[in-house]
Amino acid sequence: MNRRTLASLPVSELRGKRVLLRVDFNVPLDGGMNVTDDTRIRATLPTLRLLADAGARVVVISHLGRPKGERLPKYSLRPAAERLAELLDVQVDFVGETVGAQMEAAVRELRDGDVVVLENTRFLAGEEDNDPALAEALAGVADLYVNDAFGAAHRAHASTAGVAEAVRARGGSAVAGLLMARELAFLGGALDRPERPFVAVLGGAKISGKLDVIDALLPKTDRLLIGGAMANTFFRAMGLETGRSLVEEDRVELARRLVQEAGDRLLLPRDVRVAPALAEGAEVDVVARDSIPPDRMALDIGPATVRTFAAQIARARTVLWNGPLGVFETPAFAEGTRGVAEAVANATDTGATTIVGGGDSAAAVAELGLSDRVTHVSTGGGASLEFLEGRTLPGVAALDPADA
Ligand code: ADP
Ligand code: MG
Repeated sequence: MNRRTLASLPVSELRGKRVLLRVDFNVPLDGGMNVTDDTRIRATLPTLRLLADAGARVVVISHLGRPKGERLPKYSLRPAAERLAELLDVQVDFVGETVGAQMEAAVRELRDGDVVVLENTRFLAGEEDNDPALAEALAGVADLYVNDAFGAAHRAHASTAGVAEAVRARGGSAVAGLLMARELAFLGGALDRPERPFVAVLGGAKISGKLDVIDALLPKTDRLLIGGAMANTFFRAMGLETGRSLVEEDRVELARRLVQEAGDRLLLPRDVRVAPALAEGAEVDVVARDSIPPDRMALDIGPATVRTFAAQIARARTVLWNGPLGVFETPAFAEGTRGVAEAVANATDTGATTIVGGGDSAAAVAELGLSDRVTHVSTGGGASLEFLEGRTLPGVAALDPADA
């Protein structure tokens, strides 16, 4: 789906324009209302700098947490606005309301290049209901709507969907910001025209949440490598003993069908790390996949599998990775994820396009200090999964078509 982008607009036309910028500032806050991870704020800086440098008057909106239409102070966007002010070398103000007279006055007072952050869109019930009145109130302060919130694009909310339509109805444009465009280019590029070999790596806890991704990716990839707890359900489908491992009984049939359809394109772990329980200090063994003891659970892929997966990744020209290969939060079961992350980083160094999607996978890569050695780490968790499933994201569909 090709959408009009901010980069395609002449910079000279932005001066003095009121730009309503939807970002994903859904950042974690600690008890003292400090932003504990500003990755999402930093990810929007290129768009914010472009707009401020061009002399636009920028009105930033975002959701944070799940206040469900209630004004809950612990979900205020003020700390995010303060963090943004530190990162951005321009005037950043915060207004303690999302729509209303105070917000409208603040927008009127903006000078060219100023930035104002409004209060959490989800403090208003109309946000998640995609209420036309809220969309209209937001559109009222916008000559141009820019959506950079890829992480919220799978939701049809007032600030992601309705507002785009409302701005257009008033004669304005609705375009993708630089981050949104980058997400769509990398994730869409991998799906539509990957440089081959194209290798996908899938892990994580549940096969059920990722089934549609497997289905969508299987015909497109040259190799699909599967690890994490998902692999156990495939083991069961192959008639193997899985001990006390996490298995989704109701997906075993489906796993069997996938194994048959995929043939040798689907690679499952050859060996696994097992323990009697998920605990640091538990007795850990490496066993072949057909030798999982009945009283053990598989909690990571084994070293032979890491070598096989790394060799596949080394040959790839495009790598798409979603989902940790083991319970990486516990150091004893982080080796598989580390091995794959290092293989992905090495592939990037030798010119492959590497893409990591998924909240936990991105966290694992960041923890290993390898984020800079991945071509693109997606900022969207649920949104990137839905995109990879081939679904239309409402926040993307709402933007102007590329040829408008
Ligand atoms: P992402 O957020 O990257 O999409 P998921 O949310 O699907 O990833 O899965 C991440 C979780 O999967 C992690 O919390 C990890 O502990 C868990 N996990 C991975 N392998 C296993 C396993 N073998 N057994 C149980 N849980 C696992
Ligand atoms: Mg997750």
